[in-house]
Amino acid sequence: MGVCGYCGKSAFTISQKIGFCASCLRKYWEELKEEIKKIHAATRKAFGLPEEPPRAKEGVPCNLCFHRCRIPEGAFGYCGVWQNQAGRLKGPGPKAAHVSWYLDPLPTNCVADFVCPGGTGAGYPDFAYLPGPERGYANLAVFYEACNFNCLYCQNWHFKTRSLKQPPVSAEKMLADVKDHVSCICYFGGDPGPQAPHALSFAKAAKAHKGGKILRVCWETNGAENPRLAQAMMRLSLVSGGCVKIDLKAYRQPIHESLCGVGNEQTLANFRMLAQLAAVRPHPPALVASTLLVPGYVDEEELEALASFISSLSPEIPWSLLAFYPTFYLDDLPTTSRRHAEMALNIAQSHGLKHVNLGNQHLLSDAY
Ligand code: SF4
Ligand code: SF4
Repeated sequence: MGVCGYCGKSAFTISQKIGFCASCLRKYWEELKEEIKKIHAATRKAFGLPEEPPRAKEGVPCNLCFHRCRIPEGAFGYCGVWQNQAGRLKGPGPKAAHVSWYLDPLPTNCVADFVCPGGTGAGYPDFAYLPGPERGYANLAVFYEACNFNCLYCQNWHFKTRSLKQPPVSAEKMLADVKDHVSCICYFGGDPGPQAPHALSFAKAAKAHKGGKILRVCWETNGAENPRLAQAMMRLSLVSGGCVKIDLKAYRQPIHESLCGVGNEQTLANFRMLAQLAAVRPHPPALVASTLLVPGYVDEEELEALASFISSLSPEIPWSLLAFYPTFYLDDLPTTSRRHAEMALNIAQSHGLKHVNLGNQHLLSDAY
């Protein structure tokens, strides 16, 4: 049971790690934001990551994502992979990156599985090998071990213990796993954004390796890339039959920043821009939204705002709602309740969204 340090309310859906309820965070953000900043700084320091995006006047600029770090001599950018070495920006190149990968048999639990060629055969025969789920084929799941967000509930946080310590891995080793039965690549993480130049270059090599055969390129990202990079990612997905899946973690700044340590302006702006680009290929959908139903924080107000935002761009954009599992710093919240999930589905329906799916249903509880 958590207690809000502002209004004193107690509930299972208030995390002591955050220390405040969603209503107070939204209402009294100006008063509370320094507290929230301190929490995020401490959780980053624990992994040797920069506590804030570096802003050195004479620092080397990196423009790959919304942070636009200016990195002082010898230091790293916020993501922890790009470094100022003797006045030059050094990091993962086209040939090597902080990455790991595995072959995942299709159909799989990808967040877009309910609408994509691999999970449903959508786009057959141009973009899928089979008219239904691609059984017998596999997804090359590529995990980029760095991130430019700081989500307190990161489901894959273990990468933080490895990314700075291990040398980059050669792309040739990964290319050897683009076997005949691989029909898609899914870049995820961490986040693929900070290492997207490597991902784009690898996708070209992998497509050449496959000859003219179908190889979809998909991304699971927080969507905060430099807009030019986000466009390049979308172009690759459009021509290959893949999709860009953007995690819309919350809508209001106080909730987004409390959960993820950063704002969401770039994510929302990129989503809006990519919705326009994606309109040229509605089937299979090239842009997909996903949202984790964090108890107490991704609440009715956030879900209403997110549903309204997505449907204002197009009610055809699929939305994948995912049940939450307590982990990392947010290990003091329950899993998503049935009531919460039903409310999210009803909100999506009331905004006219046509393709909505609820994932991780086995986690649903009756807790609140
Ligand atoms: S990718 Fe983003 S977080 Fe990383 S160094 Fe560049 S601007 Fe900073
Ligand atoms: S990687 Fe893309 S095509 Fe493959 S299962 Fe995931 S969303 Fe579908």
